[in-house]
Amino acid sequence: MLTSFIQILGHTLPLLCPGCLQAQRAGLLCPVCESYLATIDDPCPSCGAPGTSFEVCGACLKRPPPWESLHGAWHFEGLARYLIHQFKYQHNIAAGRALVTLWLAQQTALFKPEAVVAVPMHYRKQQQKGFNQADWLARQIGQHWSIPQWRGARRIKATAPLEGLDKGQRKKMLRAAFGLTDTPPRSVALVDDVLTTGSTAAELTRLLKKNGSQFVSVWVLARTPR
Ligand SMILES: [Zn+2]
Ligand SMILES: [Zn+2]
Repeated sequence: MLTSFIQILGHTLPLLCPGCLQAQRAGLLCPVCESYLATIDDPCPSCGAPGTSFEVCGACLKRPPPWESLHGAWHFEGLARYLIHQFKYQHNIAAGRALVTLWLAQQTALFKPEAVVAVPMHYRKQQQKGFNQADWLARQIGQHWSIPQWRGARRIKATAPLEGLDKGQRKKMLRAAFGLTDTPPRSVALVDDVLTTGSTAAELTRLLKKNGSQFVSVWVLARTPR
């Protein structure tokens, strides 16, 4: 009861660190919480796997992903996982804002895409949930880079939650899950909160490319180990 009350305070008072709920500068994680986020070090530029000294990893050389590059900030574990869950399921915007602010401060965008595109949610799910975290993240990134958000991607097939499914099962489930209402921009940053197997981002990337996109970079807050 007390915990949930404090959590509600954390949602509404931006002067609290969303990780530990101690007083903090507006919208940021405190230095202690920041130090608890597990950064992905020296990642593979294609899939974000850690420790490849920024070289393309063996798995990507063998089977290159359909996108050109992937940018993920943290391992999906510990505090990053807690904050993303807070943001995604509890609609805790302070947690999302703290993560995205930190993430964008760390990234040096070598190349600005024409537009940001969020992984879309089926309209029925979005109605139920009232919030698409990927859409919110894409908006923040677009504002940060001063580029528009392209909203021509739709999720046309309602899929059951993909959690617990392997890559093959996800691929099958995601077949024809997305549709486009317009010609997509030539270069896009595709945004989602977490990359698990990469099936969702791959399916959407293939569709964007089939319809005219030539360069897709995937942006995710966190990535689960392969
Ligand atoms: Zn903190
Ligand atoms: Zn790789």
